[in-house]
Amino acid sequence: MRTATSLLIACVLFLAGDRSAQAQTAAWRADFADIRHAASIVPGRRPLRINVLKFAESRRTKNFSIKGAPAEPSVQARTAFQVMYADGHLMVDAGMDQQVHRFFGRGVDEPYNAQAAAQVERAVSTAKAIIVTHEHGDHIAGVIRGPHAGELAAKTILTTSQVQTLLTSPQMPEIKLTEEMAARYITLAYDKYYPVAPGVVLIKAPGHTPGSQMVYVQLDSGREYLLIGDVAWHMDGVREMKIKDAPWITEDQTALASQLRWLNELTKTDPRVVIVASHDDDEHAELIRKGLLGGRFEDVRK
Ligand SMILES: [Zn+2]
Repeated sequence: MRTATSLLIACVLFLAGDRSAQAQTAAWRADFADIRHAASIVPGRRPLRINVLKFAESRRTKNFSIKGAPAEPSVQARTAFQVMYADGHLMVDAGMDQQVHRFFGRGVDEPYNAQAAAQVERAVSTAKAIIVTHEHGDHIAGVIRGPHAGELAAKTILTTSQVQTLLTSPQMPEIKLTEEMAARYITLAYDKYYPVAPGVVLIKAPGHTPGSQMVYVQLDSGREYLLIGDVAWHMDGVREMKIKDAPWITEDQTALASQLRWLNELTKTDPRVVIVASHDDDEHAELIRKGLLGGRFEDVRK
């Protein structure tokens, strides 16, 4: 009898242990085959290419982007992406004006390229649609502020989590939304993946912010991209599976760690997928050199 009871207790402990292990590994996951499939369900010709444009820089040291990295200089590019279709383009991220740029500098005068910022602004104004990787000022201010915000809202697709953050706890007062303004955006709630346009799928990935998402793009040529926003600031975060160490941001570190693990795994199972972190300046230069990203924005009429 005693043996049977001990066995029962051992089983219960084993199951409980197993369940908590599952809870940890189930923090965040995505299925790349499902994402690929989702990319094929909206009819229409897929995009032809993706362009990146840097409009500002943050001069930080690498230890903030990669926990445990040396405090050596590391440029963080502030960027936006133009996904080119045969008949127009969509924007991933929307740039920011100089006032928001100053917020990030925290008193330090960091480079802001007004000419490039104007090109981002023009690409945003001529885009068919705008989506954002997350609700931080350097990615979203371009559709929140300025005289054309109301007009841009009508073609900007935000997630309900992004809107919620902007209403209740924005990164800075400059990007706080009013209820009235929030109602003007196209707002989307989805569970895991959302096929938003031919070849383009939103992947829900809360962690860096509650409203963070990755953007999968499959070109007409078959070439695949994952625009990962700020899941990692530097691609070493993916390569070494190391989270950031920046005291001024609050991230869900468990979610981030599982996202980095998933991306790292993807570099092994599908090495041809081009993973693009929003702020990795060196990586962007390399991808432009290889012809995998265009290094300038194309002027497209509305
Ligand atoms: Zn960012």
